[in-house]
Amino acid sequence: MDAPLIELEGVSRRYLSGEQEVTVLHPLNLAIQAGEMVAIVGASGSGKSTLMNLLGCLDRPSEGHYRFRGQETASLDALALARLRCHHFGFIFQRYHLLPHLDAAANVEIPAVYAGMAKADRHARSRALLTRLGLSDRSHHTPGQLSGGQQQRVSIARALANGGEVILADEPTGALDSQSGKEVMAILKELHGLGHTIILVTHDMAVADHADRIITLKDGRVQSDSGSPASLPPPPTPAAIPKGSQGLDRYREAARMALHAMLAHRMRTFLTMLGIIIGIAAVVSVVALGQGARAKVIGEINAMGTNTIDIFPGKDWGDEKAASIRTLNEGDLRALQGQPYLEGASPQLSTSAQLRYRNQTKSGTVNGVSSDFFRVKGMTLVGGRLFSERDSLDRAPLAVVDADSIKGLLGDEDPIGKVLLIGTLPVRIIGLIKEETGFRQPSQSVSVWLPYRAVMSRLISQSHFNQITLRVRDGVQPALAEREVIALLRQRHGSKDFFTFSSDKILQSVEKTTATLTLLVSAIAVISLIVGGVGVMNIMLVSVVERTREIGIRIAVGARQSDILQQFLIEAVMVSLLGGVLGVGLALLIGLLFSSLVDAMQMQFSLFSILMAFACSTLIGILFGYLPARNAARLDPVVALARE
Ligand code: ADP
Ligand code: MG
Repeated sequence: MDAPLIELEGVSRRYLSGEQEVTVLHPLNLAIQAGEMVAIVGASGSGKSTLMNLLGCLDRPSEGHYRFRGQETASLDALALARLRCHHFGFIFQRYHLLPHLDAAANVEIPAVYAGMAKADRHARSRALLTRLGLSDRSHHTPGQLSGGQQQRVSIARALANGGEVILADEPTGALDSQSGKEVMAILKELHGLGHTIILVTHDMAVADHADRIITLKDGRVQSDSGSPASLPPPPTPAAIPKGSQGLDRYREAARMALHAMLAHRMRTFLTMLGIIIGIAAVVSVVALGQGARAKVIGEINAMGTNTIDIFPGKDWGDEKAASIRTLNEGDLRALQGQPYLEGASPQLSTSAQLRYRNQTKSGTVNGVSSDFFRVKGMTLVGGRLFSERDSLDRAPLAVVDADSIKGLLGDEDPIGKVLLIGTLPVRIIGLIKEETGFRQPSQSVSVWLPYRAVMSRLISQSHFNQITLRVRDGVQPALAEREVIALLRQRHGSKDFFTFSSDKILQSVEKTTATLTLLVSAIAVISLIVGGVGVMNIMLVSVVERTREIGIRIAVGARQSDILQQFLIEAVMVSLLGGVLGVGLALLIGLLFSSLVDAMQMQFSLFSILMAFACSTLIGILFGYLPARNAARLDPVVALARE
């Protein structure tokens, strides 16, 4: 006779029970030939299930040798044992051990998924098996919708999914009524007839009588063994298991399981994700806000002209002595106007005054400027003319007005040529300007520009300037021009009693503020994300404990440790990723709300920050899901299966 299919030599199993070591199986020798149908009988607690788990490679012997097809199993690693279970064994349990949230067909397919069978082949096979077992009309029922006998038939189909060369049935009829039990036994006998090796455990002698060989266990020892029959049916032609594309299918299966688990506990999953949702939403919307603010400021600076420099007296903004510094004067203006790197220079003297036209009075902002001013500021003339250099020198009482705000005084009359009273000074309107509002809100007061000399001599009587505005020539670096200007004025004044301000500087300070704000909120968000991650880890640990039995079943039907690890890791990643998606959605919603409430600016969402949010949440899932997933993968299948 050939080497037996299964050969145990001095195999024993001991458990540590507290301080004491309990021997559940005493060293035993056993050989089972391919194609045998063996019944293992014995009283409850005699060690039948323990022996069965050893035979099915769900458990390892404490000592002795177990050879399967002559191959020593002690030298196999976890992966090789999983392969052995997957391709050679089919388990049938007393309590069926079907996965409750999958329908019959999906349950039958699980071993085939782990064997890497292609989807179409898997479907065809499960359909054929269920039809063969009389369940063709039940394939889309979940276990809860099936009777005990039907569930056991589904589990037989599952045992055959990868061929079921050796079928290990532990009390397969134990939970069934006698009629269903008879049906199940008939199926097992039929499979035996087809050449499958059947090993079944029972405490019912009527069931055991179906077998060719009966082994009786008592207190962990073989009490009697009727021995292998003389003749055996011819071994079956091994069922060809079609191989298919491996990886992707496993991921899809894992993702589907994760989805089931998430949907089963919607509220719990949502609360778990909350930390991640808030963290991601905070970062994405603050970055969008920063981007929006930045875009707004840059837009306004571009409208104003990016290459202007303002000169003010004093050390900096808010210098109290600034008002008494009178060194910024006409001489400086002339000197600056002569510089080749500047395109124009204009003083700016502002005062407010009452404007009158006929019997209408309005408050107005009166600006004394040079003829260069409008070019320096990039203002556009929309009607009439600007005053000339000559007008400036002549202190001519001519005014250019803001086309919009003058309507408050003149109504719909054409302003050109009209004479206004500024205080008591009559001035003639010669030009209309479209004013860029810049940072200021559109004001109620009327903006009026006069030649600066007219303002200085007729309205405020002072001989120094409060501000000079310069425009840098195109092609000259603003920073370079600014340095030149500072050097020139310092030389003229003998000390630096002025300061400069350029749009460049505004830009820089806005960039800095945005960066600081983003950093600050990101720091808060990171804390939220960590809290969220811990939440995910916590819920995954609970999930592993809750689904211990499911894990045991999966391992029994051929899942490798890496399959289990992958499944739980994917679940953690899906929870976090969904949190990320909801977070981004929330941020977009905030953006929508923001744009409907705030007119001045818009939040700007960048694809990059959204992709980063997804990457970040995936990373959290992997990071915080790893520990629970590893716990799941390392579960002892025997212990896991025993869990109710
Ligand atoms: P049977 O299936 O014949 O009813 P088992 O093989 O399940 O018996 O159990 C045999 C004995 O081993 C029982 O006394 C049981 O309490 C003990 N046993 C089984 N599993 C463990 C374990 N993990 N730790 C300690 N004792 C165990
Ligand atoms: Mg048992």
